[in-house]
Amino acid sequence: MKNIIIIFVVCLIVRGTSIFGSQGGKRMSFVKPPTQPIVATRSVEVKGTRWKNGKIIRILFLGGTKAERQTVRQFAVEWTRYANLTFEFFDSVSQLRGQKSDIRIDFVQGDGANSAIGNEAEYFEQNERTMNLEWVDKSTILHEFGHALGLDHEHQNPSNHTPWNRKAIFAELSKQGWTIEMVDDFVIKPHDRNLVNFSQYDPQSIMVYSYPASWTLDGSSVDQNEELSEMDKINIAKMYPGKTSVGEENIAPVIPVSQAQTISGVSEINCQKVTKTPERVSGASSFIVENHTNEILTLYWFSAGKKTKYATIHPDSRHEQETYIGHLWVIDVQSQCKLAFTTTSKSKGKVVFGKPN
Ligand SMILES: [Zn+2]
Repeated sequence: MKNIIIIFVVCLIVRGTSIFGSQGGKRMSFVKPPTQPIVATRSVEVKGTRWKNGKIIRILFLGGTKAERQTVRQFAVEWTRYANLTFEFFDSVSQLRGQKSDIRIDFVQGDGANSAIGNEAEYFEQNERTMNLEWVDKSTILHEFGHALGLDHEHQNPSNHTPWNRKAIFAELSKQGWTIEMVDDFVIKPHDRNLVNFSQYDPQSIMVYSYPASWTLDGSSVDQNEELSEMDKINIAKMYPGKTSVGEENIAPVIPVSQAQTISGVSEINCQKVTKTPERVSGASSFIVENHTNEILTLYWFSAGKKTKYATIHPDSRHEQETYIGHLWVIDVQSQCKLAFTTTSKSKGKVVFGKPN
């Protein structure tokens, strides 16, 4: 008989800047240490945990106030803008009219935030919860629903090469009752490459824990993410395809913009007009930026009036970025907009700065 291992993700809520005490008391308490070490094997998808594409997922609330349930409904559906799934929410078993529920949510204080991964929720009894939300806020809801759709923690992406300061992390988390094994299993150890589908590490992902610079040997840190990142949207749309319309495949002409720069597959926007250009998003796309100049290029995604940094592109290096057709991207040199653009087709866009040697 197949040995079924249920992966139940414990969200350590390192995810709040919480552990550094800046969010007040509520997030200070970590999830209770699991009674036995949970080997979380795993935008990092745990293989074999996808729901059937196009499925209507029935979600039953086991507890919670009307307002809490409403908050969950409001934010969880964000995923289904990109994933070809439909969420149906039920307030009671009788509303299900004999149908089975797929995900069951409770709101037990002291039990933290956690979720079964993807379709492994099917291994739970119909009266057992598959998700607990001790904190009912956008960030936590999006994160736990990411697990519920089959995603694991992004900071353990095998592509993440952050040099962790294991001692410092343990010093902090041991105060919450963590063992060194838990620090290894939930923060440091990358997921097993054989058990997950992964792409490049995305520190903007909703599935990453936030962490302070003191946790890393190179001083890098991650702030708490409140929104789905570009990669989150792209990855979930790939896992559950069909929701976003795919742009027409066509080969865009190469347009010389200036002697120092050529572009193809992208449409240039006047730098001055970026703030007023609306996003008209359709299918998944990608582009490459090559830097043959002596200057450092900084790549930003521009959305809802703000710039989010995605990459630093050093001289003689290149960067590949996944995106959606219609999203606005800006490349700065020394904080000045050098190029603003959007991809125009599904085929790969290309932006070249300077002349290749
Ligand atoms: Zn988590």
